[in-house]
Amino acid sequence: MAFVDLKAQQRVLGDRLKQAIERVLDHGVFIMGPEIAELEKRLADFVGVKHAVTCSSGTDALLMPLMAWGIGPGDAVFTTPFTFIATAEVIALLGAVPVFVDVDPDTFNLDPELLARAVEAVKKADPQIYPLPRAATEGALRPRAVIPVDLFGLPADYASIHKTALHFGMDVLEDAAQSFGAMDAGGKRAGALAPCAATSFFPAKPLGCYGDGGAVLTDDDDLAEVVRSLRVHGKGGHKYDNVRIGINGRLDTIQAAILLAKMDVFSEELAAREAVAARYTEGLNGWVKTPKVPAGCRSAWAQYTIVADHRDKIQATLKEREIPTAIYYPKPLHRQKAFASLGYKPGDFPVAESLSEHVLSLPMHPYLQPDQIDYVIDAVRAALA
Ligand SMILES: *Cc1c(COP(=O)(O)O)cnc(C)c1O
Repeated sequence: MAFVDLKAQQRVLGDRLKQAIERVLDHGVFIMGPEIAELEKRLADFVGVKHAVTCSSGTDALLMPLMAWGIGPGDAVFTTPFTFIATAEVIALLGAVPVFVDVDPDTFNLDPELLARAVEAVKKADPQIYPLPRAATEGALRPRAVIPVDLFGLPADYASIHKTALHFGMDVLEDAAQSFGAMDAGGKRAGALAPCAATSFFPAKPLGCYGDGGAVLTDDDDLAEVVRSLRVHGKGGHKYDNVRIGINGRLDTIQAAILLAKMDVFSEELAAREAVAARYTEGLNGWVKTPKVPAGCRSAWAQYTIVADHRDKIQATLKEREIPTAIYYPKPLHRQKAFASLGYKPGDFPVAESLSEHVLSLPMHPYLQPDQIDYVIDAVRAALA
């Protein structure tokens, strides 16, 4: 059994993948070839935004909007400590300060009430109100932006987050790296839930290519134009006219061709992921804490993640039965050496810390068969019996 079975997807896509790659080999425009514009139109239509700007990774898709907003030293950017390092890394790369806000124990996503408290704490440079990074206590930082993460495929609570962001004049960047294809209760797609979003096409994400890739999604014409410039070394009218400091952040044409082929089956894959999740939940309810999807929402089910007291025992039992599992994330970001200089302490974010000790992600992909799902369910129950 595979944790994510890309071979099964290849069998379903058959010749379509090879033909898509061969077309690129034939026209030979490996950088910014015609498939890039075609994919960008298709992604924007799917998500329901005006602009999709493809780029080299989900990380660069997070980095470039922050660059476009001019975020840097003296700025506080709020995000969760229970995410992949990239979400907070881009903040630090720009010289701004990541300010962590604990997550909701049921959705694993940024807790909007705690966000309001954390912003208040930053404005008053008062860690009594909410745990702060050292830099925020030494002098007041400007609260500039918040990066909510749609963890494991489930959209964060944007309605509440936007209220706080609006109140304090902060930008919101949706980290939709895991949620491409998901929907909020109003039927809006992930990627359209904030004024700007970043997604990733890393192979194991819900929509993945065969290398690194990502996209910035927005309705904002000016922001899209600046991101298009940043992606090619801050180009102006042409490549050798440089109007700002940018990066080499393009998506390869071959990866765009692969993504176009995969888009053909993506909607069916989302439905299949939901069916897999439903079968897991039915079989595991009452045995472990199963993921909750708020009414009306649809998760992209990047991961199916349970919470259990005997997580390590379950993982060991599944391993004996050759069932691969993963722990996302074993160490919250405020406990990472890379962020030691922020000066956070153990206990600052109790929900994230507890989750890191109790979560376990089970095999999840659209081609998981009912008998395989039942085999996993049996193994989890056996570990607890
Ligand atoms: C994967 C991921 C990223 C980074 O995407 P890459 O394409 O690997 O750079 C950022 N945030 C989250 C939550 C992710 O899961």
